[in-house]
Amino acid sequence: MQLISHAPTGPIEHSWDKHKFDLKLINPANKRKYNIIVVGSGLAGGAAAASLGELGYNVQCFCFQDSPRRAHSIAAQGGINAAKNYHNDGDSIYRLFYDTVKGGDFRAREANVYRLAQVSVNIIDQCVAQGVPFAREYGGLLDNRSFGGAQVSRTFYARGQTGQQLLLGAYQALERQIGLGAVVMHPRMEMLDLIVIDGQARGIVTRNLYDGEIEVHMADAVVLATGGYANVFYLSTNAKGCNATAIWRAYRRGALFANPCFTQIHPTCIPVAGEYQSKLTLMSESLRNDGRIWVPKQPGDKRPPGSIPESDRDYYLERRYPSFGNLVPRDIASRAAKAECDAGRGVGETGLGVYLDLADAIHRLGKNTIAERYGNLIEMYERITGENPYEVPMRIYPASHYTMGGLWVDYNLMSTIPGLFVLGEANFSDHGANRLGASALMQGLADGYFIIPYTVGDYLATAKPVKVAADAPAAKQAVANATAITKKLLNANGKRTVDSFHRELGKIVWDDCGMSRNEAGLKKALSQIPALREEFWKNVRVLGANEEFNQSLEKAGRVADFFELAELMCLDALDRKESCGGHFREEYQTPEGEALRDDANYSYVAAWQYQGEARAPALTKEPLTFNYVHPSQRSYK
Ligand SMILES: Cc1cc2nc3c(=O)[nH]c(=O)nc-3n(C[C@H](O)[C@H](O)[C@H](O)COP(=O)(O)OP(=O)(O)OC[C@H]3O[C@@H](n4cnc5c(N)ncnc54)[C@H](O)[C@@H]3O)c2cc1C
Repeated sequence: MQLISHAPTGPIEHSWDKHKFDLKLINPANKRKYNIIVVGSGLAGGAAAASLGELGYNVQCFCFQDSPRRAHSIAAQGGINAAKNYHNDGDSIYRLFYDTVKGGDFRAREANVYRLAQVSVNIIDQCVAQGVPFAREYGGLLDNRSFGGAQVSRTFYARGQTGQQLLLGAYQALERQIGLGAVVMHPRMEMLDLIVIDGQARGIVTRNLYDGEIEVHMADAVVLATGGYANVFYLSTNAKGCNATAIWRAYRRGALFANPCFTQIHPTCIPVAGEYQSKLTLMSESLRNDGRIWVPKQPGDKRPPGSIPESDRDYYLERRYPSFGNLVPRDIASRAAKAECDAGRGVGETGLGVYLDLADAIHRLGKNTIAERYGNLIEMYERITGENPYEVPMRIYPASHYTMGGLWVDYNLMSTIPGLFVLGEANFSDHGANRLGASALMQGLADGYFIIPYTVGDYLATAKPVKVAADAPAAKQAVANATAITKKLLNANGKRTVDSFHRELGKIVWDDCGMSRNEAGLKKALSQIPALREEFWKNVRVLGANEEFNQSLEKAGRVADFFELAELMCLDALDRKESCGGHFREEYQTPEGEALRDDANYSYVAAWQYQGEARAPALTKEPLTFNYVHPSQRSYK
């Protein structure tokens, strides 16, 4: 298969405008003749469904929660980037573009990233118009703070609840369209398969999570905005329900999966406390604006932090990266924390922690200012750990958080299946091998509000999908497939819980395809995962029945997909014999322990194609070219 990105050529600053002009339009009266399915109602899906409804299309929107308001986007804390340059500190569209390409370690498509930086400014205007209560500074302008990988302040925020406020904005826009009848919302519905007819995406199969009914929904185009797959690690900062099922089942129907091994480990999470923990909690990266990260200089120093004098502390990020200090990108901060802990300087009972200390900032700015900026995060930390960060430094450690990999999409956000579009964290598009903080919300809203409304019209006008029946053979076959998986899970009747399998799988992936990877570990994981998967299908015990609200069954289906995805992640990580961004292959590092890319051989997007059960997936490469930001060794020193 040849991958055609459809990325425009010519001067990059005009390429999106030109592309938009070249895209075909559908006249307003004809839009209502088209049905579009949007799976997902987070920031990407909610924005897309609202915008497509507003344009006049008939939209069916699906989510597995009881309300679109509960999409995982609501958890986002720190902020959203935009190149507004309100601080007059040297920001520009070009700088955001540059920082993002460099931050992603030169493994993203330049044209996409430029467009993202361009539309970032529209996003803020749109959200302000919706009433999103962004923080403001004394003059009344919107305030900004800094996030990793940037030397300017371009992150817009609403305390530590930015995702919640943005989602409320998108949700209101969506509800308006639901009220007008342009969007029909289907909560508590899980997409279990994609219907492909004559090579085009024409519908989905869902399971009603209340009563188990399997349903067919047909459309002229399908949009997946189903979020990321960090829960493959079992322990992650994602909501427990986040899963890969929609994109994984689309992969099994022919959509290529890009860069599955590019996952992000976030440096500032509350450390794991015990074997039976099921969830990790993020402490937003925004805390690194005011928090200083340090460990005791002496390995094994068990004194309480307040008794360790300045002379015995190592502010290792400030020491190693004087230009960016505590605001180095996430991949670098995470690896640096791991290195300190591996060297015996970790803090807390387990030794897997470093301090994030707000004392200097409190002294400089006062407790009230710090509470205004991070109050809810500090409260959350205190509730979980019983320690008060106004008085003692927080303890943090890296945790799996975000996935840059996802379904391959072209510049129009269309997958390799015509008519199947993929938005937000579910696609692989803009972040390369490492996402910069506050850029996921930007990408999800860019995709939903500003890109899909143009590109889906072009597809419909060009492909002119004909009417298809809900009992078409492909639809029946997809129903049979979804039903068979459900039955197989319920009938396994084994002895182990779904969670016990998920925990064991997660540990394999974390140990061997997590913060660092090597050939031996990846090969070991590639032999352990299929064996555990086989045991899962024989020995899993799913309680209850299909015809009822059954979260154990939901979980089982998702974990079954995580098994397959985990294998693909390891395969991809093994195949990429270089280090870049979050993909740190121990064999490929600079003498100073930084990621060592191999641009001559690996400057491409790795897109994997499903070849059937028990057959190795096929790799197709989309070469990456850099005409503006020339690849160099990333330096934040
Ligand atoms: C704790 C935390 C804090 C974060 N903070 C920030 C931040 O400050 N700034 C930033 O830029 N990014 C942040 N991120 C990342 C960001 O929140 C996510 O990348 C982003 O919100 C994902 O949005 P989305 O719309 O792609 O997916 P989601 O918000 O995850 O929405 C997915 C939707 O798909 C639906 N869905 C999924 N599977 C199915 C299925 N099979 N059938 C039906 N429906 C399905 C769900 O119901 C949901 O509606 C944070 C992430 C975490 C975990």
